[in-house]
Formats: sequence, structure tokens, C-alpha cells
Amino acid sequence: MEKKYNVDSFNLDHTKVKAPFVRLAAKKVGEKGDIVTKFDIRFTQPNKEFMSTGGIHTLEHLMAEYIRDEMEGVIDLSPMGCRTGFYFTVWGDRTEEEIANHLMNVLKKVAVWDKPVPATTEEECGNYKDHNLEDAKLYAQKWVDGISQKGWSAF
Ligand code: ZN
Repeated sequence: MEKKYNVDSFNLDHTKVKAPFVRLAAKKVGEKGDIVTKFDIRFTQPNKEFMSTGGIHTLEHLMAEYIRDEMEGVIDLSPMGCRTGFYFTVWGDRTEEEIANHLMNVLKKVAVWDKPVPATTEEECGNYKDHNLEDAKLYAQKWVDGISQKGWSAF
């Protein structure tokens, strides 16, 4: 079927999903057979609730740094412009369940974080004053609670 937009997530009906969730957004196979999978890691309900810029920024620093200790093959973790979640891109054919389990381990740690947030100096970050650890911890806890209750599925 013809898709309206080039970007996978623009074709998602955002009124039909239930946050938080982990959703396989795209799977790409390269010329040499390498597989890259991209996930929609949603924290808040689209068009209802949004993360603060400082909160999502701090969450990005903590998740991007510590997901790489948790699992192999991470390519990228980036915040969505709508501030409701993140895109997470990894090497290999991965399942939503596997990604949700890894994220659960990281976000349980983030929810009680009491150490410095990585890379928050003027040299290391593009907006180093816009961080909010308390918000980041709150969003992490809500994700953990939500996924624990309803599972990782978006629908
Ligand atoms: Zn930054």
C-alpha cells in the first residue's frame, strides 16, 4: 500500500497508541545483508503529555551513555522533537521484547540516579544549562511503572 510520508513514524496513527511502549518502527537490510532496526521508545501519551526540555535532555544523556553498557550493537538514541519519546537504532534483527528488557534495566537505574549526569559541561554538551535530573528520574520511573503494568506493546 502507498504510504503518505517517507518517514515511518509520520504514518503511525498517534491517536491509536498507548504510552509508554516500545514499537519496532523500521527494519533495514543493507546491500551486504547487515540489518539495522529502529525502535520508537515512547514515554508520554502523544498530544496529551510532553517531557520538559531539561528532563528529556538529561534522560537522553543518561540513556545514551548507559544503554551502551547494557547491550551490544547500539547505533543511536535520540530524542523526538515532539518530546514524547526517543528513537533507538541498533545493529541486528532485534525484538521489541529484547529492547524493552534492556531499557527496563537502564531506566530502573535512571529512576534512582544520584551520581553526576554524564557530559554536562560547556565543552561536552550543546545546551549544558538545560538539564533537569529530577524530571528525568520521574519520567524514567513512569516508564518503568507503565511497562511493568501493561507490557511494552503500543496497541
Ligand atoms: Zn546535551
